[in-house]
Amino acid sequence: MTRPLRVGIVGAGPAGIYAADLLTKDETLSSCGTSVSIDILDKLPSPYGLVRYGVAPDHPRIKQIQGALHKILDKPEITFYGNVEYGVDLKLEDLRRHYDAVVFATGSDRDRPLDIPGVDLPGSHGAADFVFWYDSHPDVAPSWHVDGTSVAVIGAGNVAVDVARILAKDADDLLSTDITDNVYEGLRAKQITDVHVFARRGIAQCKATPMELRELDKQPGVEVLVYAEDFDMDEGSLQACEESNQVKTNVKVLQNWAIRDERGAERRLHLHFLHSPVEILGEDRVSGIRTERMELTGDGSVKGTGEFVDTEVQAVYRAIGYLGSPLTDLPFDEDRGSSPTPGAGSWTWTRSTWTACTPPAGSSAARSASSATPRATPWRP
Ligand SMILES: Cc1cc2nc3c(=O)[nH]c(=O)nc-3n(C[C@H](O)[C@H](O)[C@H](O)COP(=O)(O)OP(=O)(O)OC[C@H]3O[C@@H](n4cnc5c(N)ncnc54)[C@H](O)[C@@H]3O)c2cc1C
Repeated sequence: MTRPLRVGIVGAGPAGIYAADLLTKDETLSSCGTSVSIDILDKLPSPYGLVRYGVAPDHPRIKQIQGALHKILDKPEITFYGNVEYGVDLKLEDLRRHYDAVVFATGSDRDRPLDIPGVDLPGSHGAADFVFWYDSHPDVAPSWHVDGTSVAVIGAGNVAVDVARILAKDADDLLSTDITDNVYEGLRAKQITDVHVFARRGIAQCKATPMELRELDKQPGVEVLVYAEDFDMDEGSLQACEESNQVKTNVKVLQNWAIRDERGAERRLHLHFLHSPVEILGEDRVSGIRTERMELTGDGSVKGTGEFVDTEVQAVYRAIGYLGSPLTDLPFDEDRGSSPTPGAGSWTWTRSTWTACTPPAGSSAARSASSATPRATPWRP
């Protein structure tokens, strides 16, 4: 029996933990009598990454996967070390010294930047900061003044939808969740009556999933309003509907909202499609947002019309995507916001105990390095 293969995994989100699970089950390792010993390191004191600090508190069913992740961490081959930050407490050299192989699964933790005038005004927030606050991330200040009566959310994906829902929702409807007292108090103090969500493209390009989209209209005291003039569909949009059930369902949900009568709810969630934000307005803090009306060009993409619309808002939340952060001593692709991941075939395990048993491309050991989409670096002697 050789000594166990020592694997270090940086990042204790689902990708890191599932990669560890796959390694413990790897038939190639067991067939050559090699066991595995895995350390999972995370800069935070607790595991589960964005499942804990990203998924919204009113999505307890999704947060429940923490139970499954916990079971994996309980395996005797796996040890979790919190409060260990790669690049600060440990460098690549240290990992090389201690492990036969390393998996980087550090996820995406910051907002994609939006380069428009006014973006740095007080009252303009990245969604990541707001989400970290309502999920009580340990690095984020406990107080947040949820300002304004009318606010904007930029984006049309699930994060934008989460942020819009939490902003529109009555804080009391979150009491059954695991939100902390400071978050409940912060949300209870809000005076928001109107949340305006701005999406650059059309209804067939809305990236939110149908369940999350429908959920917007199921919040007590909230109604979704959509605008018929935003509902253009071009050839590309029709084709997208034919090719994807998700697109077809989203379009149907939105069209049904467009033809019904207003209910006169206390709070309104306005969905504006074909509006591209061009400026956040205000002198010393946000007082509005300027959007340009867009038109579809035939293939589902959009171009500006030169027509601008100003909407009065007192805060703006930008939810146009998350990016990963550069990792010390590893290559980084700024545009994609991630470290390039080598293909499964390029994984090399070159320490003595492992070279005798290099997993062929396509084996579960190789797949575990790529299918869970961790950022991975090949091990070099
Ligand atoms: C706002 C938001 C809402 C979401 N809602 C849902 C949802 O409802 N349903 C759903 O299925 N998915 C949802 N997702 C997506 C889901 O959270 C992610 O797909 C998933 O968490 C990604 O897993 P990961 O392991 O790649 O990264 P992460 O979960 O981000 O985990 C990465 C881990 O690496 C650690 N780390 C980072 N850098 C270092 C370092 N230098 N040293 C040590 N550790 C480090 C981090 O602390 C973190 O624990 C949501 C995402 C966001 C942002």
